Amino acid sequence: MTKFNELNLNPKVLKAIEEAGYETPTPIQEGAIPAALEGRDVLGIAQTGTGKTASFTLPMITLLARGRARARMPRSLVLCPTRELAAQVAENFDTYAKHLKLTKALLIGGVSFKEQDALIDRGVDVLIATPGRLLDHFERGKLLLTGVQIMVVDEADRMLDMGFIPDIERIFSLTPFTRQTLFFSATMASEIERITDTFLSAPTRVEVARQATASETIEQGVVMFKGGRRDREASQKRNVLRALIDAEGEKCTNAIIFCNRKTDVDICAKSLKKHGYDAAAIHGDLDQSQRTKTLDGFRDGTLRLLVASDVAARGLDVPSVSHVINFDVPGHPEDYVHRIGRTGRAGREGKAITICSSRDEKALAAVEKLIQKDIPRLDNPIQAEEPKAEAPKPERKPRAAAPKKTEEKKIEPRKDPEPKGRGRGRRNDRGPDVVGMGDHLPSFIALSFDERRAG
Ligand code: AMP
Repeated sequence: MTKFNELNLNPKVLKAIEEAGYETPTPIQEGAIPAALEGRDVLGIAQTGTGKTASFTLPMITLLARGRARARMPRSLVLCPTRELAAQVAENFDTYAKHLKLTKALLIGGVSFKEQDALIDRGVDVLIATPGRLLDHFERGKLLLTGVQIMVVDEADRMLDMGFIPDIERIFSLTPFTRQTLFFSATMASEIERITDTFLSAPTRVEVARQATASETIEQGVVMFKGGRRDREASQKRNVLRALIDAEGEKCTNAIIFCNRKTDVDICAKSLKKHGYDAAAIHGDLDQSQRTKTLDGFRDGTLRLLVASDVAARGLDVPSVSHVINFDVPGHPEDYVHRIGRTGRAGREGKAITICSSRDEKALAAVEKLIQKDIPRLDNPIQAEEPKAEAPKPERKPRAAAPKKTEEKKIEPRKDPEPKGRGRGRRNDRGPDVVGMGDHLPSFIALSFDERRAG
């Protein structure tokens, strides 16, 4: 097995690695670091949890240790799909470069332009950014990308999902074609393949086993959930969620609960809090300071349950999550792999439980096809009971009031002054309002006196 000190890394980087407590390089590090240090392009097919961040930051720091930054012209660029991931990459740089004097700037939403502009003006060695924010800075004329010697694209498959590929192509075209590119993706969709064929030059390809197959330490299970009445289904599903958490008891030291929709992230977190659970939400619509606070709380163990959307949870590095609960089966099967990869990290045991309602059964089949195994069915802890366990909910009120509105609408036609003719109405429709005799005027009245006499 290769050791870190056989990889030609800068001695100050090695010292930081030792202090971080890493003993041996992970497979992606073993494959990517030597090639990156030789100046080659790298195509890494790996996902979070494999040590891929260090596989590009360690050689970058080693390469950047020689040379100096120039004003407004960053020497390297790391593109990440989300702010959280970008912030995490920045933290990694701080950890591994702590014995070197390298400068960095972080261009992400929620961080002030002014401060980052000032850093860039002075010159940075590493610029870490989300694509949109980077282009904003570029268009404001504050930044030149012609000095970029190393460019990293992290989690390209997620960039594709989020519609960033045109931005990435543009950024590639703004950097010198002599740059070195380190490109990472968990999967190789055809669109990603097209990008790597266009922008990478004879890359060293390093592929590590999919996390789902590698991490046998994750115990998986799925609860099939059949809701009762449609208007109660959501609250019944939340009952199931609480019952699952309760059933795990103390074994569930902390958990990430994934929902497919941001609105459900909010509702679930609120509902859990209302029932006395220590929970908070994280999704893209929350402001940065709120997200940071929630994440810090979850990392340091003061928050037990983090309710999250896929995008917000992307790249979260929380090493000791005991449980992942999928409140919904994810729409993209790859997301299942990403989600459950939050637990059972670094050889620890972990448990991933999914709630699958009838309409998610197809999505579940897609997940099982991808991971090539059947997920064991668990007993529904409350067997679609009526939601008596759920405390009375204020949100019911407007629903109860709703039918009235429809009734009001139904009787509206009666007010219509236009006569509608007979026989069209429902049984309880007494027809148009009659003014005087209306159109029920007996025909004999309409006859002249003479006509009537004539019979
Ligand atoms: P990543 O795949 O970059 O998200 O890394 C996942 C986790 O593995 C992080 O907590 C890293 O700090 C940790 N890690 C990275 N490289 C190593 C290593 N060689 N040995 C032990 N832990 C590592």
